[in-house]
Amino acid sequence: MLDLSDIPVVDNHCHPILREQQLETLQYRAYFTEGSDPVFAEQHVANSVHYLWMLRQLATVLGCQSKSSEDEILKTRNGLSADTLIEHLYRAARFDVLILDEAHPEPERCYTPERMGQLGHCRVARMLRLETLMQKLVVELDDFDELVTRYEHALDNLRIHGYVALKSIVAYRTGLNIQEWSKDQAIASFREARKAIRDEKLRIQHKQLIDYLLHIAFRQAVAQNIPVQFHTGYGDNDTDMRLGNPLHLRAVLENGTYQGMLVVLLHESYPYTQLGALEMLAFTRQALGAAPASKLMYSSDGIFLPEMHWAAAIRGRGILKQVLEEMVEQDEIDEPQGYQLARQVLHDTASTVYRL
Ligand SMILES: [Zn+2]
Repeated sequence: MLDLSDIPVVDNHCHPILREQQLETLQYRAYFTEGSDPVFAEQHVANSVHYLWMLRQLATVLGCQSKSSEDEILKTRNGLSADTLIEHLYRAARFDVLILDEAHPEPERCYTPERMGQLGHCRVARMLRLETLMQKLVVELDDFDELVTRYEHALDNLRIHGYVALKSIVAYRTGLNIQEWSKDQAIASFREARKAIRDEKLRIQHKQLIDYLLHIAFRQAVAQNIPVQFHTGYGDNDTDMRLGNPLHLRAVLENGTYQGMLVVLLHESYPYTQLGALEMLAFTRQALGAAPASKLMYSSDGIFLPEMHWAAAIRGRGILKQVLEEMVEQDEIDEPQGYQLARQVLHDTASTVYRL
């Protein structure tokens, strides 16, 4: 039997959690669905396998009498201060490093990365989200050349500024089929983007401009040996999954200029990653069957609640254990190899890729 419980986890993509953790039942449930209609929290979340599983784990870790009474479990949870809850759950999860995308939710509502690290007894690293930077600069600047200069400047010396990765959500906006455009085409697109600003805010969805600026970022990523994370596959309800297919990245991946660029495809590029253990078993089998463990990394995409990061770490270890034990059973690998592969996926690959 493989015991993976002592492997500290690097969560290579997750988000900050909210400072306010006193939550009514419906508010709480709403964080466990991507559906925005209140009917999901009212009627469906409590009948979802992943929610029922999470409640049982929470009951165990909080020492509740009942392993299934949502009322009792949430009452116990809400009886703890947010700090205590985080500390308790993160300790149980055993994190080494959390790599945070701070672009969502709004920082004003969230724990700072520093505080998350203190409470979690772990290190925290940060990534820079490119489209957020683009939006900010388009709103601030009316001159394209100045925008490019400021953008390049913001991407200088990323590690010195505390970033271990870049992150792109282009899949959400104009798609992963990132193309090459002339400067004139980018300028025309920039003019369109400027016209779309409302109340000093912009939701950038201007393909020539985004693609043009992404290429600048890729050159920086190569020069500085900084990984680029791409959102792929399933996501919030504003994603068009056809645009999030990583096969669209072929032109970028085959571009000789970017040889050696470290590309991280998030969310297993898989539709419906938040479903239950059987789905996760299936894609973990596929991933370990197809790719070396030195190319695979664990992440939670945890957000809002400390339960997200914690439950995902428990589940991540559990699923890996089960799949690797199957492989030992099949005599594909032996137990020490299984442990070593798990260590790579949970910790070592990310440690190498992000140079933590
Ligand atoms: Zn995310």
